[in-house]
Amino acid sequence: MIAVSVNQSTGARERGRDDPGCRRYCASRCARADARSAALRRPRPRARGAAPSAARRAPWLCAFLAAAAPLAAQVPSPQSVLGFRPGADSLLASWSQIAGYLGRLAAASPRVRLDTIGPTTQGRPYLLVTISDSANLARRSSLMAAQRRLADPRTLDSATEARLVASQPAVVLISCAIHSTEIASSLMSLELAYRLATDSALGAALGNVVVLLVPSANPDGIDIVGEWYRRTRGTAFDGTSPPWLYNTYAGHDDNRDWFMVTQLETQHLTRVLYRMWFPEVVYDIHQTGGDGSRLFLPPFDDPVDPNLDGALVEAIGHVGTAMATALADAGRAGVEHRAHFDLWWHGGNRSAPVRHNMIGILSEAASVRIASPVLLRPGELHQPERGVSFPLPWAGGWWRLRDIVDYELIASEALVRTAAAERAEFVRRFVRAGRRAVAAGFAESPRFYLIPPAQRDEGARLQLANLLIATGIEISRARAPFTADGRAYAAGTLVIPLAQPFRSHVKDLFERQVYPERRVYPGGPLIPPYDVAGWTLPLTMAVAVDSVRGAVAADVQRVDTLAVTPGRVVGAGDVVLLANRSNAEATAVWRALSGGATVEFAPQPFDAAGRTWPQGTLVVRGGRAALSRAAIELGLNATAVARLPSAAGTLTLRRAPRVGLYRSRNGSADEGWTRWVLERLGVPYTSLSDSAMRAGNLRPRFDVVVLPSESPGQIRNGRPAGSAPPEYTGGLGAAGIESLRAFLRAGGTVVALDQASLFAIEDLAAPSTVVAGGRGPREARNSSRFGAPGSIFEVVVDRAHPLASGMDSVAAIFFESSPVLDAAPGGRAVLSYRSEGSPLLSGFVEGAQVLAGRAALIDAPVGAGRVILFGFSPQHRAQTNGTFKLLTNALLYGAAQAGRTIPGR
Ligand SMILES: [Zn+2]
Repeated sequence: MIAVSVNQSTGARERGRDDPGCRRYCASRCARADARSAALRRPRPRARGAAPSAARRAPWLCAFLAAAAPLAAQVPSPQSVLGFRPGADSLLASWSQIAGYLGRLAAASPRVRLDTIGPTTQGRPYLLVTISDSANLARRSSLMAAQRRLADPRTLDSATEARLVASQPAVVLISCAIHSTEIASSLMSLELAYRLATDSALGAALGNVVVLLVPSANPDGIDIVGEWYRRTRGTAFDGTSPPWLYNTYAGHDDNRDWFMVTQLETQHLTRVLYRMWFPEVVYDIHQTGGDGSRLFLPPFDDPVDPNLDGALVEAIGHVGTAMATALADAGRAGVEHRAHFDLWWHGGNRSAPVRHNMIGILSEAASVRIASPVLLRPGELHQPERGVSFPLPWAGGWWRLRDIVDYELIASEALVRTAAAERAEFVRRFVRAGRRAVAAGFAESPRFYLIPPAQRDEGARLQLANLLIATGIEISRARAPFTADGRAYAAGTLVIPLAQPFRSHVKDLFERQVYPERRVYPGGPLIPPYDVAGWTLPLTMAVAVDSVRGAVAADVQRVDTLAVTPGRVVGAGDVVLLANRSNAEATAVWRALSGGATVEFAPQPFDAAGRTWPQGTLVVRGGRAALSRAAIELGLNATAVARLPSAAGTLTLRRAPRVGLYRSRNGSADEGWTRWVLERLGVPYTSLSDSAMRAGNLRPRFDVVVLPSESPGQIRNGRPAGSAPPEYTGGLGAAGIESLRAFLRAGGTVVALDQASLFAIEDLAAPSTVVAGGRGPREARNSSRFGAPGSIFEVVVDRAHPLASGMDSVAAIFFESSPVLDAAPGGRAVLSYRSEGSPLLSGFVEGAQVLAGRAALIDAPVGAGRVILFGFSPQHRAQTNGTFKLLTNALLYGAAQAGRTIPGR
């Protein structure tokens, strides 16, 4: 086989190794590929040091492509190429070794094909291995086309359906090690690929199955974790996690991006799932804590999301049980069902596919210490009691990486055999689930979602539509005005019919979640959801979406992607007025400030250009040229006037805010998401390590320091001594805290996000109190009968405060066990919960009365500076476009306030 890469934008065109796209990707290094491929065939020496630079990574694709050229006819085993057996104690394969082996395998086996789907965030090749019998691989294109038709039964007549049910192989996607410390499955994938390529019984099954194997859903993390492991192996820190994120931005949240599709890695696999292959089964392989059951497999725990197809819930249990039975038959004990992994949450690599009529399987193996074995004596085990969900307890003893590989290999092979044996049922079930979705879309309300144009943030509206399209949702645009349910809609309205096969996905993203109250025993503690309880995108993204009960008779055109319409600055003059409604306006403001403009927060409403502008309007002077360019690129519209006198007391920015962003050694995903959101918005920042914070002298260099969400203990203490080499332990410590206090005394602004607000109150004397909520040890003090583990709340906005510039009078915020605050004298609440009723919009809350009248955003002066306390997550997993503005406002406002003091004083 010749390895090919697939066109990133459409996934449709295939490319050979001489493809110009490959050459562009590989820069000038292709010439060295052959020499490097020879090196790949040997076990690589132990790598040391930090994550490799981009310059070192770029050649790998070339090397892997070269390694994939036809070699020996004999199919090489993983051990023969790696130099060790996958799962051997203390040995991990680098991504180039994994890619090199799979290239050799694809070159030698007619059952194996290797594709590069695109580059990872750090530039490594994201790989997809397609494994089936050679006849199926030879008709791969027609199989993909048939899967597309099976996924959309509206395209199937009964004769075609019968033919495909009789002939089409089942398609099973197996995704490994999206969480990179859960690394066994990447090693397992090599052995699985080899066995599928060489084992005669499995080979027979491959007539009925196409296996899509993703050796890692986060290739960068394989090396980030692998290099850390090799560096610390045999030391006192053997088996610890690296002190940084293993996915550049998302870290462990890389498996929470499956409807938002912000990261390259998510985009690649999403394209495989909903544009290329439409598999019937998606198996997502994970690991969990080390002292419980050896492996979780479905059936899942309650509750079941109301949008999941009941037959699919049964099928998930059926397939999970078949996999578990194979493990029991093989004498592998300790398999558990119905553990706390629920069927509620949307956003994971097994939960998004279920909403696309696919059987989503999760397994969670007990971990070792990365690759180092652990010894568990019976007293150290915390297994569930023996029962129908745990029929075969594990006796304890040594638990090794190879044990995990064995369990996952047995489970994966059982999945392939089950899919082969029940091929027709899998295919038919997929079609029928799609048919039921379409029928429900006609029969039940709502029948349509409409997304009107002219919203507060056109960028968010387009992003929402594009993420739906990327995940297989059919969207059309009205070419002319129309009415629906008695309301008038303009041309340009986006029309989403619910009578489409992936109805569950869009319906679940658009409607409000009502998480059922579940308790350990009647009157007892709540059973929290596995992940967040609510995720309604029109709320978090602040995009107005209408539900329509009746028919929609509109002249529509199907859209494949939506791009911004260029905007402009209208009116004569160099004073540009920005209502600051969209996030693109924040981007434009930063560009104008960087180009020498000044920006004022209008301190009260004013009349200009024939209309009244609200308090908080951004008045940009000297930035018209930059704003005009931004208007075209970002699709925003603004108004210019010739002159506008500044009111007394106007808060003015004379340069772009100088932003420091704290980056702890705890590997905070919230820090990564903050970086992601700031970079998307074009907001420059400087990352500040613990040592940089401890070194002090922050005020001459920064106007604003942002503390991402971490508990006070994590910020103060960082990683405990003994958990990592000394240079990575300890947090801010006394020196770092004193440095922040000095920054505040000198007029700087600290922006504390979510849990970090607790730190700001306890250690920086921010004048506020914590009423309830917040994670960590102080929770017990405050949290009697209050809890909201991931919900969307409504708050009232004080629009008279500059922090609320551009916001509406109410806002939806994302609250995940966040601190509930009260402003003490001197502080001012900018966002508040209403004094009556529950603020719950989506998800779950217990004890909502605790929130009544409390604050969710506080501007708190401290010394000559100020602390801005967020009692929620304004940038939660890059999903909350509706509150990004509060973060950018905090940076602008904080810097403007800091500008009133003299740096360094
Ligand atoms: Zn995991």
